[in-house]
Amino acid sequence: MPNIDCQLCQTPGGTVLWQNQHLRVIDACDALYPGFTRVIWAAHVVEMTDLTSAEQAELLRVVLLVEQVQRTALKPDKVNLAAFGNVVPHLHWHVIPRWQDDPHFPQAVWAALPSADAAAQAAQQARRARVQQQLSAYHQALVARLESTL
Ligand SMILES: [Zn+2]
Repeated sequence: MPNIDCQLCQTPGGTVLWQNQHLRVIDACDALYPGFTRVIWAAHVVEMTDLTSAEQAELLRVVLLVEQVQRTALKPDKVNLAAFGNVVPHLHWHVIPRWQDDPHFPQAVWAALPSADAAAQAAQQARRARVQQQLSAYHQALVARLESTL
């Protein structure tokens, strides 16, 4: 049953790139982190262990597929996988491409934003612009892999 107070039951949570009856893959549309993708379980459950083992396997398969396509299409220095649900207790995974010059590296993207000098900010902006240009190809590759895998 959808939860009336849950933003992931009531809204897609981003731009839906692909979905099936169990889950959806969304572009988080994060201005600082182009390529930030979330895999959101459709039903309102809180923890991975609320799922059957087959459902757990499907969700993790998609999370890892997103990671693999990010690595191929965006070539980040690192991919961060995270599932918290502390703020929105509806099962979802964050798949975040990270670069050594990104604003929070090596901290989590949720950490306080460190100060950066003008040159560093300009480099970050240039790299974000390059990633933005790759997003369409990334999203197309992601959908193609999901369609061929699931
Ligand atoms: Zn929910």
